[in-house]
Amino acid sequence: MAFTSLRAKENHLTNNSKLLTDTLKKDGIDPVCKMKVRAGNIKTATYDQLVYGFCSESCKQKFVKEPAKYIKK
Ligand SMILES: [Zn+2]
Repeated sequence: MAFTSLRAKENHLTNNSKLLTDTLKKDGIDPVCKMKVRAGNIKTATYDQLVYGFCSESCKQKFVKEPAKYIKK
């Protein structure tokens, strides 16, 4: 008797607020140039507990320098 219990390990992404990963969770807008940024993007920066994605490293750098300039409340 062969017990072939194939248990597909599903990686359920838990939405715990541990450490924010450097991956954008969902589609967003590059706050610097307003370009669309896809989920999974790794050019991200965290500001005010939100993760922002960027189209390029230079946009990210601009944002990191002066986040308040690009985030209007
Ligand atoms: Zn950009």
